[in-house]
Amino acid sequence: AQVRELVESKLATIPDFPEPGVLFRDLTPVFADGPAFHALAEALTAPFAGRFDVLAGVEARGFLLAGAASALCGAGVLPVRKAGKLPRAVLREEYDLEYGTAALEVHEGELPPGSRVLIVDDVLATGGTVGAAARLVERAGWTVAGVSVAIELEALGGRGMLAGRYDVHSVLRY
Ligand code: 5GP
Repeated sequence: AQVRELVESKLATIPDFPEPGVLFRDLTPVFADGPAFHALAEALTAPFAGRFDVLAGVEARGFLLAGAASALCGAGVLPVRKAGKLPRAVLREEYDLEYGTAALEVHEGELPPGSRVLIVDDVLATGGTVGAAARLVERAGWTVAGVSVAIELEALGGRGMLAGRYDVHSVLRY
């Protein structure tokens, strides 16, 4: 409860960004505050202690969270990148955006087979992004240890889309 209050006290909520009708949750003031960022990074991994080997951070805000959590818990980081950024052989998964599609990639063979991967991102909305990351992990021969996000937007149904298959944890829910 203390963590939630601390993070929520720094979180910014912006109406009509990036377009009219959207209430955008902005974590940059949380990242900018040492104690709040530290507490958030700890809270992301605590429920999964002993159950993962590596943190997968989704570009770009997931990188910050996975990197900070990695330094606290000692796990490595798997960068889940936007298409076209990784230099070696990749696996690619497309997912739907409101208009069109996007794709995420990981390097094949980046982790040992069977590695337990905890997927980390800032916001879970429809679940499309995290779902694509989870498919990449499984196609690569690793296991999804769970999904951990700073903020879950419940009305957008991401948990339902991932339900049953993955253990989903969120620090704040709206
Ligand atoms: P989804 O794929 O679950 O629909 O959307 C999640 C992705 O969109 C996340 O990678 C997240 O960064 C971004 N996103 C969606 N809504 C918000 C929001 O209100 N605030 C922030 N910071 N990101 C959002």
